[in-house]
Amino acid sequence: MSRITHLVRPNIAALTPYSTARDEYVGHIGIFLDANESPYTNGFNRYPDPHQAALKAKIAPIKGIPADNLFLGNGSDEAIDLVFRIFCVPGKDNAVIMTPSYGMYGVAAAINDIAVRSVQLDRDFALDTEKLLAACDNNTKVMFLCSPNNPSGNAFSREQLLDICDRFKGILVVDEAYIDFSEKGSLVTEATKRDNLIILQTMSKARAMAGLRIGLAISSLEIIRLMSMVKYPYNLSKAAMEKAMSFMCKSIDDEVHTIIYERKRLNSILPRYPFVKRVFASDANFILIRVDDADALYSYLLKKGIIVRNRSRITGCEGCLRLTIGLPAENDSLLNALDNYKI
Ligand SMILES: *Cc1c(COP(=O)(O)O)cnc(C)c1O
Repeated sequence: MSRITHLVRPNIAALTPYSTARDEYVGHIGIFLDANESPYTNGFNRYPDPHQAALKAKIAPIKGIPADNLFLGNGSDEAIDLVFRIFCVPGKDNAVIMTPSYGMYGVAAAINDIAVRSVQLDRDFALDTEKLLAACDNNTKVMFLCSPNNPSGNAFSREQLLDICDRFKGILVVDEAYIDFSEKGSLVTEATKRDNLIILQTMSKARAMAGLRIGLAISSLEIIRLMSMVKYPYNLSKAAMEKAMSFMCKSIDDEVHTIIYERKRLNSILPRYPFVKRVFASDANFILIRVDDADALYSYLLKKGIIVRNRSRITGCEGCLRLTIGLPAENDSLLNALDNYKI
């Protein structure tokens, strides 16, 4: 029994997972009369591999981890939902999250009837470890941290995140959706060595596959086994896996470098506008800015055909807009629009 076994919901610990037709044989078979599929070949008439072995074998070395420590989901959103379903008893357990952060943690908690304890980040979006741990009680099964954080853009130090992991008695999830844009290192290797750490990553941002819906979770063998057991058997389609296989052959270094270069460019230009009060340092592919009148600027940009994210109604983000870094020409269009903005 490991240090986390007692955190698993009893019904999940006792679960007999669905056994797919193709799991029940070994060896080479030429005639498939087992799964009630159509025999007429069109490239997609057979069920996809529920274990996603080929795609995992492709991704794992790129991430520097064994394939057995990797879970693939229908977006990170699936992994977030699974964490609640595996560890939290509805109506009884709770989750600690930081705020402002990614909205899906709270939504997935609400769907699963799990109470959320929100810990406000400091004024500059720093994370107070003591406040976070003080918010936990014996029913706090999971904690979600996001680094680099959406929408603030800042990443937390490795030391701080690992210290929280060591001291927290539940499952710590660190969402690294934007890690490719950050100079602070990923914790994936740590997640394969610890028993209570789950790292979330995604193909949706730097890897440019938001439309394919592929999210990653990296964790201990025990947690990956639980996630694989609870997921829908065929949670990734064959079409998505094939496309991802081919996209993963190509390096994203050039694109990531360009986005980081553009982020630095915008970061130095944006403070020059009189209506921009604050440009928050970012480790991601977006920048949060505080402006005089966020609603007015948001509407103005919309009229110019540029949509940004208005975060001004979120506590801690008053007056703030979140700007995604686009192509260099798109960023020029944004700056051009800002040049012509009259308050
Ligand atoms: C965009 C984003 C994701 C990605 O979610 P997918 O379901 O994988 O597309 C995850 N976490 C954060 C914080 C994000 O901003």
